[in-house]
Amino acid sequence: MSVPASRPWKRPAVNCRTRELEPAAAVGGPGGARLRGCRCTADRKDADVTVISRSPQDPDDVVLETAEAGRDAVLAAAARARTAYAGWAAAPATVRSAGLVAAADAVAGATDELAALVVREVGKPVTEARGEVARTVGILRYYAQAALLPEGDVLPAPDGRSLLHTRRRPRGVAGLVTPWNFPLAIPVWKAAPALAYGNTVLLKPAEEAPACAQRLAELLSAALPADVLTVLQGGGETGAAVVDVADVVSFTGSEAVGGIVRRAAAERGVPAQCEMGGQNASIVLPDADIDAAAAAIAGAAMGYAGQKCTATSRVVVVGDAAGFGERLAAAVESLAFGDPGDPKTALGPVISEQARDAVVDAVAEAEKAGARVLTGGTATGPGWAVAPAVVVDVPDGQRLLREEVFGPVCAIVGVPDVDAAVAEANAVRHGLVAAVFTRDLALGLELPGRLHTGMVKVNAPTSGVDFHAPFGGSKSSSYGPREQGLAAKELYTETVTVTITP
Ligand code: NAD
Repeated sequence: MSVPASRPWKRPAVNCRTRELEPAAAVGGPGGARLRGCRCTADRKDADVTVISRSPQDPDDVVLETAEAGRDAVLAAAARARTAYAGWAAAPATVRSAGLVAAADAVAGATDELAALVVREVGKPVTEARGEVARTVGILRYYAQAALLPEGDVLPAPDGRSLLHTRRRPRGVAGLVTPWNFPLAIPVWKAAPALAYGNTVLLKPAEEAPACAQRLAELLSAALPADVLTVLQGGGETGAAVVDVADVVSFTGSEAVGGIVRRAAAERGVPAQCEMGGQNASIVLPDADIDAAAAAIAGAAMGYAGQKCTATSRVVVVGDAAGFGERLAAAVESLAFGDPGDPKTALGPVISEQARDAVVDAVAEAEKAGARVLTGGTATGPGWAVAPAVVVDVPDGQRLLREEVFGPVCAIVGVPDVDAAVAEANAVRHGLVAAVFTRDLALGLELPGRLHTGMVKVNAPTSGVDFHAPFGGSKSSSYGPREQGLAAKELYTETVTVTITP
């Protein structure tokens, strides 16, 4: 099935309230292939609860309406995933690897369709949407190889004749709860390592992006044995039910929900990882290449309308903050803002009316408190579009400086020296990523050690993720082991120390 970004996609005539959903029909429309291994677990008892996703650029355009999986459906899916686990965990790593290669091929083959669906369902500009599909394919291929790497150490045995070694054992059923802003890449950067290392997966995607998740799961499931991957559509209750049945939990989303998830996992004694919000600072030092810094920060702050956990939301300028503000505002105004289906567009709408209002309110509140708005901050439409905002002279304590707005708004603060810049950058509870712009190599080496974030970029934007490198934050941004790269093995497996004496 292909979903054109520019043409409204007619919702298929499937009444999710009254009958069990057939995933291919719900997402692919009549004629879509029904795929093995992927169950859309509509619980008949809960079938009156539906998830409806709407296009942010045209909220009248319903992308998918689907039944929410209730607690009974989650329990049933968990039982099937547990049965499938026995075979999948015991399968040779070469078999799991081949499954992930086939899944990567399937996703790559559906690039146009998936990118169009991402544009339509979450308003991501098409160039970035295509990049997200490519990244998703790359992650699957990476973990197909990672599955084949050595899994332990052989140690000297005290008796000189035993085989003393370590192995890794998968955890069981992985419960993955994901947000809407990377509706393909985030589910896959959790599911791919979970599967590579022998776990089975229950995926609870965001209620804003059910169609992306459903289509992705169809493609992945076609390459995998039945019940190895199951999508459970729904909102917070479904997410909580998934957390309650999983043997290992990985969550990405807001700080508030992450707190609930990690406490629920801790109560059950299951390992969990939560990746949460950011309030990421870019520090601009007086010796920086100012034009390059302004261009990099404009992209990091406003790309995909600031809806990336790694977006720059604060700029800390040593010296002339107002002057840098003018440069940044000009760079932001040069970004193409509008139709996410246009390949030149850098930012389109935000995800929802509530998200748009949060941006408008935060800018208005800062302005009322004495800040100067250099550009943007007003709702423009179509849909939930809001003009990207650059704000200077923001008084201390303003929400813009201390809370994640998660939209196209960037606050600039001036400080007298490097120490004050580090203090300001660290003055939030979040600690995901920071950037430093300088030509001074010594400071470029020193500051990553003083910034309280999990990731630091020097002369590069805060946004942008290398999927083979460990990803995660410190302070309230992250909990548990890192995601991505080989670090993901920490979460999805446990070490077993084995002694074999002949
Ligand atoms: P959200 O917390 O509202 O929702 C995330 C997921 O949690 C959704 O699937 C939701 O249905 C589910 N959920 C809600 N209540 C739940 C509960 N009680 N138990 C279990 N699951 C529950 O977040 P969002 O609005 O989808 O995403 C935006 C947030 O995600 C931002 O704060 C952003 O910074 C963050 N984010 C972080 C990263 C990262 O890697 N650090 C990446 C992307 C997004």
